[in-house]
Amino acid sequence: MTDKIVVAGVSVDTRHWIGGRRVSSAETFPDVSPIDGRTLGEIARGGPAEAEAAVAAAREAFPGWAATSRAERARILHAIADGVEKRIEDLAIVETNDNGALLRSHRRGVMPRVAHNFRFFADWLLSLDHEDFETRGHTNHVSWDPAGPCVLITPWNAPLMLATWKVAPALAAGDTVVLKPAEWSPLTASLLADIAAEAGLPAGVLNVVQGYGAEIGDALTSHPDVRRISFTGSVPTAKRIARSAAANLTPLSLELGGKSPLLVFADADLDLAVDLAVEQYDNAGQVCLAATRFLVEETVAEEFTRRFVEKAGRLVQGDPRDEATDIGPNIHPRQLEKIDGFVQRAVADGARVVIGGHRKDGQFYAPTLLTDVAQDSEIVQEEVFGPVLTLQTFADEEEAVRLANDTRFGLAATLATGDSERAERVTAQLVAGTVWVNCFFVRDLQAPFGGSRQSGVGREGGTWSFDFYCDLKNTVTAP
Ligand code: NAD
Repeated sequence: MTDKIVVAGVSVDTRHWIGGRRVSSAETFPDVSPIDGRTLGEIARGGPAEAEAAVAAAREAFPGWAATSRAERARILHAIADGVEKRIEDLAIVETNDNGALLRSHRRGVMPRVAHNFRFFADWLLSLDHEDFETRGHTNHVSWDPAGPCVLITPWNAPLMLATWKVAPALAAGDTVVLKPAEWSPLTASLLADIAAEAGLPAGVLNVVQGYGAEIGDALTSHPDVRRISFTGSVPTAKRIARSAAANLTPLSLELGGKSPLLVFADADLDLAVDLAVEQYDNAGQVCLAATRFLVEETVAEEFTRRFVEKAGRLVQGDPRDEATDIGPNIHPRQLEKIDGFVQRAVADGARVVIGGHRKDGQFYAPTLLTDVAQDSEIVQEEVFGPVLTLQTFADEEEAVRLANDTRFGLAATLATGDSERAERVTAQLVAGTVWVNCFFVRDLQAPFGGSRQSGVGREGGTWSFDFYCDLKNTVTAP
């Protein structure tokens, strides 16, 4: 195994980062680019021994980091953000090669946001406070105490963005971290370890382990020294992690899948509704928040569909490194097979293909819209995680809400309507962690983010993140 690989001119260490040093494993696994099926390199394949070593390093580093002043922790987080900003181009090109998402979006959107994630939680930490209050002359003082080592497990669809939504608040809170990125996109987590070390983060405060979830996951999530587990990924994996965490009653934060609706009312600005609809193909449909179920008022359904087909037809699918590309490849041949399986079963079940419905050369799936789908069918109920959308119609508001809420998920919902009273009325009835009205994907880190039902447990963002990553303490002092 070579310790370093070069991806588009950027050197990336393929080993774990444990206790402030690089650690190899006896075995490796190949990291394959979805752009052209090229093996980018062999990555250290961690198992229980590496999990044990990383948790031990996080445990040893914890007292020192927890005792570090808020101001110093914030200073180091800002230094990490500076390091990210200096390496935006490197991070962007490596992430694109690794997971196939658009280079232009990594460059201009994602990586600047990664830096912002560190700055935001550094600043929030400094303002984190609760006013003291009195009870019969006694003073109550609330504090956010660091909790201990945290295990953070993340998926491949937005690797560094999702990892830093967890790493930044955990470090700010005074916790130490073992980060396990997804095996399909392991590289930028390794670069983050370099950046954090250069920024002066003490050894053992951030550890990165690589490997297959099934091989290293249980050892991390059942470890008695781990005080928090934060996971973003699929529902089946979350259930497994919850069972593993139950051994020690380790608190969990779960950000899971979705089958979110886009509700289009007849009073909506249809051009805006179509813009929002076409956006759902972003990242080749590999977005947890994607509004994959279009629910359109029947009086405008035909016109909406006509305009949607026209606009979707102009999307450029191709190499994600190309500025002109709108949709890149899907992550893995296995994922492509899964996507096609969903579509073919839906068609066999009576769905009508409006556009797409098939694979394309390379690792691409044609942007697809299916209609004539039954509410209880697999294609309406299950997350596809590819560029596959469905369209159903509704007669009135009551039916719209009923269809919108009728899945086991509750991550997000998007509304297109010109009537603000309707927006308020409908929003109040929707089961969703986030509702967007006449917009999509606007996320402020101050806001709570998470899912209801099987879309998740808990909320991230602002003080909610600190509530999760800290042991809250109330100190009552006599007069
Ligand atoms: P996944 O559940 O297969 O894998 C996610 C991570 O879990 C990977 O790092 C994987 O190695 C690890 N893992 C697998 N088995 C494990 C085990 N037994 N113990 C510990 N870790 C284990 O999910 P995925 O396919 O990588 O990601 C796609 C899913 O993530 C979709 O369902 C999507 O909706 C969801 N997602 C949710 C959000 C959100 O914020 N709600 C954001 C992005 C993605």
